[in-house]
Amino acid sequence: MPECINHPGKEGIYKCARCNRHFCLVCVELIGDKAYCFDCLKEIVKESREGTVKSLTMKVMVSSVVSLMIAVVSLYNALPLLLLIYKNMMGSYEPLSIIAPKDMLYFAIGLAFLALSVGLAATKGWAYGCGIVISAVAFVIGIVNSMSFPGGVGTILSTPQSDVAALFIIMALGPLILLLAILGSRKELVGR
Ligand SMILES: [Zn+2]
Ligand SMILES: [Zn+2]
Repeated sequence: MPECINHPGKEGIYKCARCNRHFCLVCVELIGDKAYCFDCLKEIVKESREGTVKSLTMKVMVSSVVSLMIAVVSLYNALPLLLLIYKNMMGSYEPLSIIAPKDMLYFAIGLAFLALSVGLAATKGWAYGCGIVISAVAFVIGIVNSMSFPGGVGTILSTPQSDVAALFIIMALGPLILLLAILGSRKELVGR
């Protein structure tokens, strides 16, 4: 019979269910039909505390809504592509080659943010890493897109009521806000 790790000479009649080391009766806590050493109990309590941190907070919920909003706007911008897919599904063949690359980009961005919105709402760990990448990429695309607008970002911001400005704000500043919100939600999403 192995000895108790803490009390040499004493029989280690209990085996900790977590670390598998042997202990005597005073060195373990019996829970149900299992024995746990005190080191492991501390770890278990710590882990469960961290688990409760990983929860749906207001910040994460707002991130999810912002992500959904970007998804809706992107998919709306990809409407020609969606209509084409619909028509093809309905049997009237239309070549995909007539689709502008920009529409495909918006479609991809829309799907990415849609998935991200769901991941954030479910506080999935991957929403942290993926969220950072998707937001950063979308932010850069949003900025590049607005450069192609006559007059650039300056004109867009000087006419904040225009459709173009609204689109810019949602498609460039939206991802930026989302990026910051996700960076600040590491604990809630990753759990540590
Ligand atoms: Zn143990
Ligand atoms: Zn002992």
